[in-house]
Amino acid sequence: MSSKILIIEDEEKIARFVELELGYEGYTTTKAFDGRTGLELAETGEFDLVLLDIMLPQLSGMEVLRRIRRTSSVPIIMLTARDSVVDKVSGLDSGASDYITKPFAIEELLARIRTALRKNTQEDVALLSASGLLLDLSRHTVTMMGKAIDLTKREFDLLHYLLKNKGVVISRETLLENVWGFDFTGETNAVDVYVRFLRGKIDEVFDIKLIHTVRGVGYVIKDEK
Ligand code: CA
Repeated sequence: MSSKILIIEDEEKIARFVELELGYEGYTTTKAFDGRTGLELAETGEFDLVLLDIMLPQLSGMEVLRRIRRTSSVPIIMLTARDSVVDKVSGLDSGASDYITKPFAIEELLARIRTALRKNTQEDVALLSASGLLLDLSRHTVTMMGKAIDLTKREFDLLHYLLKNKGVVISRETLLENVWGFDFTGETNAVDVYVRFLRGKIDEVFDIKLIHTVRGVGYVIKDEK
């Protein structure tokens, strides 16, 4: 299956050129020529990677980046026109995966795209998301539509494990083993208790169904559709 890439770039010549080159490489692309349209498309969650220009009409690239990051861990490569250190630093601080300075060689862009897509499929990516919830492993934070959620370490670890395995039903035994550790000797209903804690802090507060119970099997986090 080919990866879907969103190109948010107001210079139409550059956008078309990139689209053409990515097409040759087998990627499926969609273009947006302003920040607002780009953000709306990114928020559909249909893309595997976003190429994001910094200088954009309507919404700046930095603003688009910040808003995408409220709800999504999609890899984002920033396109910076100037060789501006400030842009790069604040872009990476705000959660960009990488940046490339224009004008760039297409081979370099393709290499960055491959790296970003590969990183995102590795197990320990720094950002995980589901249904608008975002877990940032490096900052140890969990947010829902930009609002911080305060979790204990165990709650965080449990949520992290379920998010890492999004879409896969995980048994209580596997959760005990991986979240509590092999030497866990407490009550076996600890998992249920902690799932209840998480639901109290997330599902109930934000009125979503994040953690699903699969009777007789275990728990699974699914993207709410
Ligand atoms: Ca521009």
